[in-house]
Formats: sequence, structure tokens, C-alpha cells
Amino acid sequence: MYPLEMEDIYRVLEETIRDTGVRRALEVSSERIEKNPMKVLSRYPYLESFREEVRKAKEEVLRNIDYYIDMTMKSVEEIMGTAHLAKSRDEVFKLVDQYVGEPPKLVIKSKSMVTEEIKLREYLERKGHRVVETDLGELLIQIAGEKPMHTIAPAVHMTKERAVKLLRSVGVKVSESSTLEEIVAQVRHYLRNIFIEADVGISGGNTIAADTGAIFLISNEGNIRNTTNLPPIHIAIISIEKIMPNMELAYKQALLQAANAGLYPPTYLSIIAGPSSTADIEQKRIYGVHGPGKVIVILYDGGRSKYLDDPVIWEQLLCIKCGRCQGVCPVWSITGNYWGGPVYGGPMGMGWTAITEDERLASRLSLFCLLCARCTEVCPMDIQLHKIIHELKARLMGRWG
Ligand code: SF4
Repeated sequence: MYPLEMEDIYRVLEETIRDTGVRRALEVSSERIEKNPMKVLSRYPYLESFREEVRKAKEEVLRNIDYYIDMTMKSVEEIMGTAHLAKSRDEVFKLVDQYVGEPPKLVIKSKSMVTEEIKLREYLERKGHRVVETDLGELLIQIAGEKPMHTIAPAVHMTKERAVKLLRSVGVKVSESSTLEEIVAQVRHYLRNIFIEADVGISGGNTIAADTGAIFLISNEGNIRNTTNLPPIHIAIISIEKIMPNMELAYKQALLQAANAGLYPPTYLSIIAGPSSTADIEQKRIYGVHGPGKVIVILYDGGRSKYLDDPVIWEQLLCIKCGRCQGVCPVWSITGNYWGGPVYGGPMGMGWTAITEDERLASRLSLFCLLCARCTEVCPMDIQLHKIIHELKARLMGRWG
């Protein structure tokens, strides 16, 4: 449970700063998160030109959100997928129950901040299902029972020794003397049968194209392909601000996100447009061949539409969650996502916590920001992150001070 009161927030941050293991791991990762995107962007300068186009498209979608939600849902249905709009986490749970069915089922998941937001894994576990995270970092977070420390690198704060200890606790055959290569090989072995036996695969979506209903998913480990391809049912839970008007712009957003996360080219970019099918025998179309026979898209609001008209915080909805702002932030570099709220953290975390959790909590957390604006300087969407944080500070003084 993330602390809500000021003195508890202080205590958590103080403990984090004093933890030398976390400090060491964050130092290394902050440098990597800061420098890798710079290298990518100088090597592939055409990526810079996507920024304005993607921002404009996202603004257009946010201005006409109902129109684009409607278009996306119709497009998903046209390609034989099933589309739903869920306003709240309870509505998502109800829909997921409907498709996962009676427990116990084996559910595999790829990393998704939206499912973290609604605590879907915990919900399904409470219902009696076995849920396994398939991204290595997220698997470590699941075993540790913690929150992800970075949007694309959830276990950045963990040392190798800690990772080994956690993996051993679930039966992965690793030891303190295992090399990183051996650890990864053993995780691959551990997950292999789980991928094959899973009843349902749940993913998020880096973006979804309204004109076709195609979901875009980026991955480097290859786990997303297995999660969305091997089980008979694939459920994609995608927040409404991830909608892009068309395939071309969705592709550009996906590349921009990968580049600004410093992972370019992404090893895998999956485009999923409906269930797998064949008509090879007597020209009768049968759904569910090697990939899922059912693809369900749940568009999730979760408080976002309430902020569309907010004069300052609305801009956070343009965020593509690359996490680049975190690597340059002097506060995040010593606190990680312990500073930011129950799910999100660092500069982008303030706005997201206000939108998806609690504006009052976000305002309290914003007091730790130095307003140096380094986050704003690197944001590929030109979001004035420091101004959002400044606004949250002002609201704290004005409304609750
Ligand atoms: S303005 Fe605040 S959130 Fe942004 S980089 Fe500086 S300290 Fe971090």
C-alpha cells in the first residue's frame, strides 16, 4: 500500500535513499536511461521528425475522444475481434471474468502499466487463477510483491544477487554464482511450458490504430509474441489515450516510444489485427489456428476523460510512457518510482498519479520536485512536465494547504 500521509511519504523516501543496493542499481540505470536515447536519436535523425506529427495526432484524438473510441471499436469488430469500453477497473474485472472463465485457469501476462493501475494480477489471483508475468523484470516485481520502478525496466533497482534470490524462491534453477546468461537461460526454461499451457494471454498495447483496430506491441524479450500468440484467448487492455488515428501514425508512435526508451530498433514490433484464422479447406473460415481464436480489446478510461478539460494536467495524456524523463531527473535518480505514487513514478508519475489515482496524493508528492525542468527538456511529446508539477504544488497550497 503506497503511503498517503506526508510523514509516511518522507519515511519511504528516506529508507529508499539510505538503501545502498537500490542507490547503486539506480545510479547505473539512470545513466543508461539518460544516455541511450541520445545515442539512438543522433544515429537515426528521422525519428525527430515524428515528434510533432505524433503530438498533433494525439491532440486530435484527445479533442475528439468519443469519435475515436467509437471508430476503434468498430474497426476491431470488423476484423473479427471483440471490443469493449470500460470506464472503471470494476468494469474491466467483469469483462475479464467473462473471458477467462471459472478458476483455476493459467493466465500469462506481458508487462502493462494499465493492468498495474487496476491491479489485475492481484484480482485474478484472489479469484483463484494462477497468473504469471512473462517479462523478466515484471516477473521479479511479481515475486517481490513490489511496484515497477520504471515503465520499461520495472526491476531497475534490483541487484543480481536479489534477482537470484527471488527467482530461486519460485523454483528457477539459479545460484549466486550463475552468470547473467545462465540466469536468463533458466528463466526461459521456467517459462517455456507456462507459455504453452496458458489458457489466456493478457497484454496492454503500446498503441492501437483507430482506422483498422490493429494493436501495436513492442518487445525485446520476445515474451509478448508468446503471450499474445500461444494461448487460445488474447485480451488486450489499452487505455483510451493510446488510440492513434491510423496505422501510419500508430507505427510512428511505437517507434518514437522505443527510441526514447533507448531500445531502437525494437527487437519485436507485433501488429495484431484480430484472431488467427484459415480458409484453406473448402474455403470455410475457421478462427483459432496457431494464434488465438479470440482477440478481445478492452479500451480503458480509468479517470482519463475527466482530465481532458483540465487546463494544465490534460497534457499528461499525451505521454507515450517512454520513461525518458525519469533518467534525467535528479530526484528519481535516488528514489526511483518510490517517488510518484502507487503505480507511476518520477516526473511523468505526478500527472499520471493525479489522473489515475488521487490528485491530492500527486500534489503532496510534487513537493519533492526541484522544478529544474530537465524532464520537460527531454520529453519527446514536449509535455511541460515541470509545469504540471508546479500546478500540483499550487493546488496543494490553494485547496488543501
Ligand atoms: S522538474 Fe522536478 S520532476 Fe522534472 S527533472 Fe526536475 S526535479 Fe525531476
